[in-house]
Amino acid sequence: MTEITVQNNTVVRVHYTGTLPETGEVFDSSEGKDPLTFLVGHKQMISGFEEEMIGAKLGERREFTLEPERAYGHPLDELIMEFPKAEFSQLETSGVSIEVGMQLVAQTFQGPAPFIVQAVGEETITADFNHAMAGKTLCFSVEVVELRAASDEEVDHGHAHGPGGVQH
Ligand code: ZN
Repeated sequence: MTEITVQNNTVVRVHYTGTLPETGEVFDSSEGKDPLTFLVGHKQMISGFEEEMIGAKLGERREFTLEPERAYGHPLDELIMEFPKAEFSQLETSGVSIEVGMQLVAQTFQGPAPFIVQAVGEETITADFNHAMAGKTLCFSVEVVELRAASDEEVDHGHAHGPGGVQH
């Protein structure tokens, strides 16, 4: 029997730390938490993360740098939108004052969409729906802590079941 490696339709659990190369700042880490679990080849992860992990064995650690193209892409102007301030009146009456840099969540037909308040005008609020990591180069250190072939059902659903996966 050949040893299983990370490939499409495997379920991988990893510990990881993501840092910003310019500052070394840790922007995300699974340290002290459960490992991150995902089904490979079903767009659960940013593309570069999966590409860099393909072929890794259980216990293997990999370090790699992703340019924005293979991470969260570049910020798009069309994801910056203006809304009438009146739409936020509910927040304001509950005592929340809207400030630049604040993260809020809009309810859309596609589900909740987080955004950053980019500007607060007299009549409008400018909302930036770009991913907070858009335009950034990211470094990752990743260790494979569990690895198995996905079940037919998992492949069918497009996500992992069991520990760290979708429970249903
Ligand atoms: Zn499922």
